[in-house]
Amino acid sequence: DALANQIAAGEVVERPVSVVKELVENALDAGATQITVWLEEAGIELIDVQDNGVGIVADDLPLAVERHATSKVKSYDDLACVASLGFRGEALASIASVSQFSLVSYHPTEPHAWLLQNQVDGRWSPLAPTAAPLGTRIKVASLFYNTPARRKFLKTPRAEFTQIEDYLKRTLLVNQHLGLRLIHNAKQVFDFVPAIEPAKYLTRLAALLGEAFVEQSLHISQSLPGVNLEGWVSLPTYHRGLADKQFVFVNGRIVRDRQLLQAVKLAYADVLYHGRHPVFVVFINVPFDQVDVNVHPAKYEVRFQHARQVYDHVRRAIRDAIMQPLV
Ligand code: ADP
Ligand code: MG
Repeated sequence: DALANQIAAGEVVERPVSVVKELVENALDAGATQITVWLEEAGIELIDVQDNGVGIVADDLPLAVERHATSKVKSYDDLACVASLGFRGEALASIASVSQFSLVSYHPTEPHAWLLQNQVDGRWSPLAPTAAPLGTRIKVASLFYNTPARRKFLKTPRAEFTQIEDYLKRTLLVNQHLGLRLIHNAKQVFDFVPAIEPAKYLTRLAALLGEAFVEQSLHISQSLPGVNLEGWVSLPTYHRGLADKQFVFVNGRIVRDRQLLQAVKLAYADVLYHGRHPVFVVFINVPFDQVDVNVHPAKYEVRFQHARQVYDHVRRAIRDAIMQPLV
């Protein structure tokens, strides 16, 4: 099964950022409110993610690292209305098959934490008792050490690091209650505290997208049948936009859906916006059974049941909002 895991890893784990994403999403699914990420060499040497989530009981630990073992989807029907971020149950097995992997977890019903590690022969060590705070900590060292072809395809540490930082910043945008700390090569990159009050979230927005954006943007919030829309969009007078500061989230997931981005851009075109790229953070929520997130393992794509309706709502809501200050 080791080979099957490595092949699956090809889909799920392309580069360090994919590992970070899977581990952070697992932490969020576990209800974590505080996550710390340590990296060495942009994650190529080490990715270490600690969370204060619910943890994993000893009996479930060997299962967690087995392929197609997921505690999140109990039946095929569940797949249609996935609320958790992970659901395929292959991330940990895949990651472990191409790295030196260790998992420490402390569930409140256990007397202490447990450690599970993979060994060079590919087998798992027996569970060992250890000391750790409540929650889970996963260390992924020497990524792709046993698949040199894939290791060769990694970009420079700088490029790999930028991708991780971008991913974590997007995670901070959508998870306002999350505290997140990033340490790279023993230096702290950032430390965001949970932004529970709206004012704190604005501070976070300013740190992530710039003070100027916060001053020159509008808050939108609209509930329409089948679509709930909320977010911040730059005023048409804001001319310092960058194309990489456009964020759309669907049901709490980061997505890169061309048509959704297009719907937002069309809203700006509707008000005859001739500036540079608008900047926006838009959260779209639709009923879980009206959106399919099971399109690609990387889970960036979405498919709406009523796509037209969603795109039209988004376009109209944003256009109406940004038109206000103009009239
Ligand atoms: P998936 O997230 O698709 O279920 P994964 O391979 O990512 O599959 O994880 C397998 C299982 O391990 C999860 O279903 C969950 O039960 C458990 N797990 C993984 N990471 C954590 C974590 N940080 N905290 C608690 N449980 C976790
Ligand atoms: Mg997962």
